[in-house]
Amino acid sequence: MADPVPIPVTRIVDVAVVGAGLCGLALARGLTAQGLEVQVIEARERLGGRVFTRQCDATGQALNLGASWFWPETEPRITALLSELGLASHAQHDPGDALWLTDPNREPARRDEPGGVHAGARCVTGGAARLIDVLAACLPPGCVRTGVAVQALRDRGEFIELVTPAGPPVRARQLVLALPPRLVHERIQFEPPLPAAVQEALATTPTWMAAQAKSVTTFSQPFWRAAGQSGNAFVRHTQAVLGEVFDHTGDETGPGALGGFVALNAAQRENFKRGLPLLISSQLAQLYGPLAQDGYLALQDWATEPWTCSDTDRASAPALPQNNPLLRQPLWAGRVFLGSSETAAHGAGHMEGALEAADRIAHAVCRPNAAVRKTLAQDDNRLTCVAAIETFSASVLALRGMAPQRYLLHLTRLLSSQQSDLLTQRALLAVADQVYSESLARLDHLLPALDAADSQVANGRHALTAALLAPFEGWNKGLLEAALKHNAASCALSNFPTEHQPDAETLHAITLDLAAAWREFALELNSRLLVAAGDETLVS
Ligand SMILES: Cc1cc2nc3c(=O)[nH]c(=O)nc-3n(C[C@H](O)[C@H](O)[C@H](O)COP(=O)(O)OP(=O)(O)OC[C@H]3O[C@@H](n4cnc5c(N)ncnc54)[C@H](O)[C@@H]3O)c2cc1C
Repeated sequence: MADPVPIPVTRIVDVAVVGAGLCGLALARGLTAQGLEVQVIEARERLGGRVFTRQCDATGQALNLGASWFWPETEPRITALLSELGLASHAQHDPGDALWLTDPNREPARRDEPGGVHAGARCVTGGAARLIDVLAACLPPGCVRTGVAVQALRDRGEFIELVTPAGPPVRARQLVLALPPRLVHERIQFEPPLPAAVQEALATTPTWMAAQAKSVTTFSQPFWRAAGQSGNAFVRHTQAVLGEVFDHTGDETGPGALGGFVALNAAQRENFKRGLPLLISSQLAQLYGPLAQDGYLALQDWATEPWTCSDTDRASAPALPQNNPLLRQPLWAGRVFLGSSETAAHGAGHMEGALEAADRIAHAVCRPNAAVRKTLAQDDNRLTCVAAIETFSASVLALRGMAPQRYLLHLTRLLSSQQSDLLTQRALLAVADQVYSESLARLDHLLPALDAADSQVANGRHALTAALLAPFEGWNKGLLEAALKHNAASCALSNFPTEHQPDAETLHAITLDLAAAWREFALELNSRLLVAAGDETLVS
């Protein structure tokens, strides 16, 4: 009898990352730099997910049909990453009058918008997808497989099996799902199933901009600038085709471009599919005159993209993802992590959130060994544990000092994006999440010097936790007081009585939210110390 043909043994990789959007790629870069073997699996043939830039056939300009803006004042991770990767950025063009069209049968009104309408937004020069290209170039050959959708996950004990429509399953010791929570819920089967509460959290977390359509129209020059206009326009009537328009020209001189968000919902766009380009150019002409009729249009309807838009997103009104700590809990005994921007505590829905999620998971997945710790400690000028705690306290105090100013920034951003609900609550939570997120990033940097392994752990609490949390004493209360003082004197809030003078019920809700954010942060800080101490069993 002939020798049996050996069954090919599928290799088990350290970490499989599902989704090569910003979160998945940034994470893969961090993990491979730590020496881990990573396999990224991407359903589309292209990388970047909701970061998508197309070259204009007519003018050669880079057209951002997905993400465009980042805000350096409130988004430290994306700002730092761009600078680390040597990618230049330029300010979103805002100077000039904005146009407001509230009646389809009238001329648009011109309005001076002091300070602009984009609250200090910047864009990556050459297109947002440059970030994706540079991140992908940092990965080892073969690290990313494109055109492969993950359909099911099976817990096999020693490894997790990722089932795809073709080819052998991928096997990994740990797994990261770097795709929108609703897609995880609707498209991926789990064996054994996820806990009901997690399934509910996945199903109810909206995917930011998933059902949106974005257009960019290019012209031989940005003629509106010469007419003293910013390119910003708001169309607020029931027949609006583009609800918001903005200058997408970039920092270069030469051809101009107007970006726009389509006001029709996914079903209406499907009905008007063939006529939509004409409707868009007519509306631009109504706003900017006949020159605006001769542009070259690029249009991206995200609701028709199955690897971005879930069935639920397509059928629902657009909504920002709410901060849900359940999405940040490791699953399957600490071997499965949920990524994507929507899981972030700060910047959820934005590129910033995608990077925050990548940071959180990189920390939970990789465990630098003693040698790496030592090298890192040497890099940090051999800080002693005491000096590291002092350094951490000093950065917390600096963050506390900046917090009231950041509150104003978040509030202004909410107001300038025409939001009117729970402004104080949302701005305060955004500041809290930002401060906690930056504090954790600072802690990660100092961990090697903290010698966490040399300290005691009692009842699941690391001995250094109290010292590191001490500089936050009284912060929540002080921030709330500063915010209320600002609100009471703010003219911008005078039309919002519940924000101008919040009642007891609103204050109670804000206090509970801030307390929940604090609890989550304190637990996360403690668990990072426990992991660094090698006491992973205590981290749940
Ligand atoms: C029109 C638009 C405008 C935006 N504007 C801004 C902006 O100005 N500023 C800003 O900060 N953010 C903006 N955003 C949001 C920003 O793009 C996202 O927050 C960010 O890119 C999310 O990155 P991610 O990696 O978390 O998810 P995604 O980019 O959604 O990546 C998920 C990846 O997973 C893949 N995938 C899905 N299912 C599977 C599967 N079963 N198997 C394998 N792979 C799978 C997808 O193909 C995708 O590549 C915008 C988004 C859109 C659509």
